[in-house]
Amino acid sequence: MTAPRTRVTCRFTFEAAHRLAWHPGKCRNLHGHSYRLDVSVEGPLDANGVVLDFDTLQEVVHTQVIDQWDHRDLNDVLDNPTAELLALRAWELLSDAGLTPAALRLWETADSWVDLTPEDGPSRRAGG
Ligand SMILES: [Zn+2]
Repeated sequence: MTAPRTRVTCRFTFEAAHRLAWHPGKCRNLHGHSYRLDVSVEGPLDANGVVLDFDTLQEVVHTQVIDQWDHRDLNDVLDNPTAELLALRAWELLSDAGLTPAALRLWETADSWVDLTPEDGPSRRAGG
């Protein structure tokens, strides 16, 4: 029997405003969302039986993303802050900090979200 792949996920929430200048409808007006961000990492279990300490994951995501975006106008972060481009920016910020997600999900509303996964399939290592 091969060992199952282990994935751990932390969920974060932040409130932010944005406007989409190109949008033909109401999204071109300044408005806000209660975003949720789910960040997953995969990898082998360490000697303590964890992929990555939840506290470590939470600290990195808070420092790199949540603390930067919470209660902000996201047009000050990106020129075109679509959910897709925000998810990509979050991925880049985490990767630059040495935490490569196995999956990242950004919820713009309770029923609309964006999923990012590594281009070459789920990561087999945490970090890096
Ligand atoms: Zn919006």
